[in-house]
Order: sequence, then structure tokens, then C-alpha cells
Amino acid sequence: MERKGAVLTGLPAFIAALPKVELHLHLEGAVDAATFARLLARHGERASEDAVAALFDFSDLGEFLAAYGRVCGAMRDAEDFELATLEALRRCAAGGARYVELFFSSHAHAGLSYVDMLAGIEAGADAAAAECGVETRLIPAHSRELGPERGLVFLEEVLTHRTARIAGIGLDYQERPHPPAPFAEMYRRARAAGLGVTAHAGEDGPADYVRDTVVLLGCRRVDHGYHIVDDPDLMAGCRDAGIDFTVCPTTTTHTTVWRDLAAPDHAIRRMIAAGLNVVVNTDDPGLFRTDLNREYELLARHMSLSPQALGQIALNGLRASWMAPERKSRQLSAWSAEIETLVAAAGA
Ligand SMILES: [Zn+2]
Repeated sequence: MERKGAVLTGLPAFIAALPKVELHLHLEGAVDAATFARLLARHGERASEDAVAALFDFSDLGEFLAAYGRVCGAMRDAEDFELATLEALRRCAAGGARYVELFFSSHAHAGLSYVDMLAGIEAGADAAAAECGVETRLIPAHSRELGPERGLVFLEEVLTHRTARIAGIGLDYQERPHPPAPFAEMYRRARAAGLGVTAHAGEDGPADYVRDTVVLLGCRRVDHGYHIVDDPDLMAGCRDAGIDFTVCPTTTTHTTVWRDLAAPDHAIRRMIAAGLNVVVNTDDPGLFRTDLNREYELLARHMSLSPQALGQIALNGLRASWMAPERKSRQLSAWSAEIETLVAAAGA
């Protein structure tokens, strides 16, 4: 049998072997065409060619959210959630993720209660842990389009039915015209209750939304954040404060103004160059037809990142996670040693 180091013959093998986390992944966006067909079949329906093609037909955030909505409509009972979760987490594990924090959109499934949804997701996460060893925590996310008052109701529901897997809350859907500021009270209460907090900002919203997400919502982690590059002072401040950014390379080519990953002014390239803590994620791998290994490969190839830089990004992810502190510190030591060995072998 070959030694582990000897089989690291190229970038894909190095990336596949890197221990990685996934912190920005939407359950509904992780549903791929095969799972979508399975979900419909559970309810006696057939996924027509047109329905499947519509899942992948989008050219901006609004059109993407319409496709996402079609997937949400196919997830109707607890068993659907269990199936979608298990299949999503299997693909995470195959894509090299060992620890996953999974968003889900509780408002987007008419007729199904939060409790039933959560039970299905928990069952899927249990099955994935047993089958492929992937550890999962959950981030119920509020649609900012629904406003702050419904956000408080959402938070109450999350806290009432809090399980050990619930790690925090998120805020997503159309950024404009839904700035972060009105959600300050919801986020204050979530932090006071000991939940982690993150929010989408700066994907197609302005740099001010990134600032307000950090300053007014108290987020030390921001999902996307790309438009921070329009405000050099804010970039410097976030770098000094150690704010984490969960970036998603393929997403930028569909929903942002940075469609070319190889462009010298691509936001992710500039965020890395500015020394921000960047974590690589897939966002909606089913709809974007990607996986975590591929997202690392895209960054490595288009932004010329060295194995050492990729290893640092993988470790950033673990640091930025909401894993329990003691366990995180043990894992950080173990992953650092593992990554150091992989980097040395890649450079040999
Ligand atoms: Zn997202």
C-alpha cells in the first residue's frame, strides 16, 4: 500500500485530503437534480425536463431565489427534510467537509411546522454522522424580505425549540432594499441568548450593509461580504478586528458583479490580499452544481493560491466555526499538524 504522502500527486489530491469545514451552505440550495426528482417522486409526481432545467436557469440573485423557491416547494414533510439533509451531507463528506453548519429557510415551506422541519433535519444529520462521520450543526435563517417583526417571531420559535445542534441564526434573501439595521433588536436578543450570529451582506448590497452587519448586528462572521472591497477603511477595520467572511467562489459568478474568478479585481482575490479571514464554501452546491473540493480548486487555479495558503484558509474555517470552544481548540491542534504534513508533502 502506498504511503499517504506518495499519493499527493497534484492539486486536486492535496485539496481533497485537506481537512475542511463548510460554514455557508443552504439545505435547500444543496438539493441537486437527482434529489429534487426523488422529493417529487415521494409525493407521486414526476420531475419534468422543464422543471429540472428551471432549477438551473438564473442570471442574478432574484432569478436564483426563484429557482431556490421551486426546491423549497418540493420539500413538504419531515421525511423530505430527512432525505434532503442526508443526501446533502453525503455530498459534503464526499467533497471533503468534516464539519458543516447548515442553513435552512424555515419560512419557505408552507404547511410544514418548524418542529417537523427540524425533526427531519436532525434525523438526516444523525444518519449522516453515522454513515460518513460528518458533524453537523444548524443555522435557521430568517428571510430579510419578511422584515424585523417576523424576525422576532422567528427567533422566539428557534429559542423555544432549541436543540444541541442549533448553533446560531442567519439572515438572507434579497439584500436590497432590506438593510441590516432594522434587525438589530433581533440580533441583540439572539446574542443575549447565547446563539451565534451571522448574516448575508455585501453580495449585491453595498459596503455599508457589511459595516452595519458587523457594527449594528454584532456579527463577527459575515456571509459573502464582497462589496467590502469598495471601502478600504472598512476592510482595514475588519482585518484588525478579525472578522470572518464565508465566501463562495461559484456564487460570485452567478449573483454578483464579479463574474470572472480570474479577473485581477475579483472581490475574493482582493479580500485575501487585504488579509481578511476568508473561509471557502459552496453556498448552494445543488443549484450551482459544485462541491467543496471544487470551490477550493477554483480559488487555487484562478487566484494562484499556494498549498500553504489553501491550508491556512481551511484552518480559518475551523477557527470561524461555532464548534464548542474546548473541542475547537483540540481540533485546531490536530488539523494544524495534519495540514502541515500535507503542505510539506505537496511541496516535496
Ligand atoms: Zn448564502
